[in-house]
Amino acid sequence: MDDADITQERLEREQMLRNRVEQRPLLYGPEECDQCGDEMPAIRRQHGFRLCVECQTLRERNQKLRRAE
Ligand SMILES: [Zn+2]
Repeated sequence: MDDADITQERLEREQMLRNRVEQRPLLYGPEECDQCGDEMPAIRRQHGFRLCVECQTLRERNQKLRRAE
């Protein structure tokens, strides 16, 4: 094995470590939606949402209705 191979191997290992970190992002939100108990998508948990898309949409719609009254 020459130097080029060692460098390539090191790059691949760094890439692997980086991928592993990206696969496990910080999740701030709960595992389940506060409203309906559905599983929360990781992307929403990352942003700290506590409701799934459906419940969030419903809540926003209700808030708008209440404001309009
Ligand atoms: Zn929900």
